Amino acid sequence: MGNLEKRGSHRAISDAAWNELILKIEYLAAKQGKVAIKINPKHSSVECRNCGHIDRENRDGEKFICSVCGFFAHADISAAKTIRDRSLEMVRGDTAYLRVIPLNAQNNVRRNHRVF
Ligand SMILES: [Zn+2]
Repeated sequence: MGNLEKRGSHRAISDAAWNELILKIEYLAAKQGKVAIKINPKHSSVECRNCGHIDRENRDGEKFICSVCGFFAHADISAAKTIRDRSLEMVRGDTAYLRVIPLNAQNNVRRNHRVF
């Protein structure tokens, strides 16, 4: 097997593992009457939560310091909050996602209705 083929098969295994993980998370969420939402994490670690400025220069290792407004935070926590906020924006803007809950989970949803 050549290097390119090997890389291709590693990627296929890695993609399959990710898909498996996503399915498992969606299943566990539905089982508890919750919804798992996939969020694009693009730029979340370099986007300022205060002014929205996106710049790699905002990062200094674990520190996030906005090069425009000076906002600072722990970079990982800031990125996690940005991803949380993106999910909330998605939920508030589009309630159609509720229809993707499998029918067998509907009773749980009614009993413990809670998105997060
Ligand atoms: Zn800023």
